[in-house]
Amino acid sequence: MSRRLEGLVALVTGGSRGIGEAIVRRFVREGAFVYATYHTGADRARHIEDELNRDGRCVIFLPADVTREEDAERCCAHIQQESQRLDILVNNAGITADQLLVRMSTEQWDRVLNTNLRGAFLWTRAAVRLMLPRRSGRIINIGSVVGIMGNVGQANYAAAKAGLIGLTRALARELASRNILVNCVAPGYVETAMTAQLPEQQQHALRQAIPLGRVASAEEIAAVVAFLASPEASYITGQTIVVDGGLSL
Ligand code: NDP
Repeated sequence: MSRRLEGLVALVTGGSRGIGEAIVRRFVREGAFVYATYHTGADRARHIEDELNRDGRCVIFLPADVTREEDAERCCAHIQQESQRLDILVNNAGITADQLLVRMSTEQWDRVLNTNLRGAFLWTRAAVRLMLPRRSGRIINIGSVVGIMGNVGQANYAAAKAGLIGLTRALARELASRNILVNCVAPGYVETAMTAQLPEQQQHALRQAIPLGRVASAEEIAAVVAFLASPEASYITGQTIVVDGGLSL
């Protein structure tokens, strides 16, 4: 594999499992130095860190709750002090709290919007302050095809993910003159803990609705994120790249 990210410093939120973990691993394989955050998965984060750092230090996990402004500021200050640069931010951390609208609590709505959308705002603002002086940067938001198609029982999640698409477009315009490129990757269904929660019957129906006939691996999402972070994507900004096996066609 080519080392397209050699010499670059990346920050990935929610790197302790699932798609975030795959992005961390892919970035390391492509030569980046990666800061990743974990929330509840301290043991898992430590395990990934030990494994990847065996042949030289290339990843550092930091504890953080993406909904906390002070955590975003603290992590970015740490990166600035230690590495003096930040080239790539991936806003990956995200949750679901599914419920039909009439039964959805205000707490469920707020929790999903706070984590998936407000979190991206807080971490982007902190990261951009490090990118601006260097006149260079990449921001990649992990959205979802649900933000485009909608989904029953996911009004909160769909609203947050659609919000990320708007945030991506607005920031792409705002930061283009500083050579900071902002894009969104919108996966369909990916094999992670998030989708493993679905009942088998629902998983079967899902596979049938996907033209490619299968869910994605986390690595297939990470590959697109790595491309957008790489010098090869130097003329792409404000876009949402759908990676869904044809689900939304
Ligand atoms: P997982 O549930 O497997 O992992 C979620 C990650 O986010 C974990 O690393 C978790 O950390 C972290 N996280 C959750 N809440 C917080 C928080 N408050 N502060 C900091 N970190 C937090 O999710 P996936 O890998 O499946 O999803 C990753 C992203 O991809 C999400 O944005 C999701 O919406 C999106 N996505 C997923 C799809 C799928 O099919 N799986 C489809 C489309 C989009 P920890 O474990 O340490 O608590």
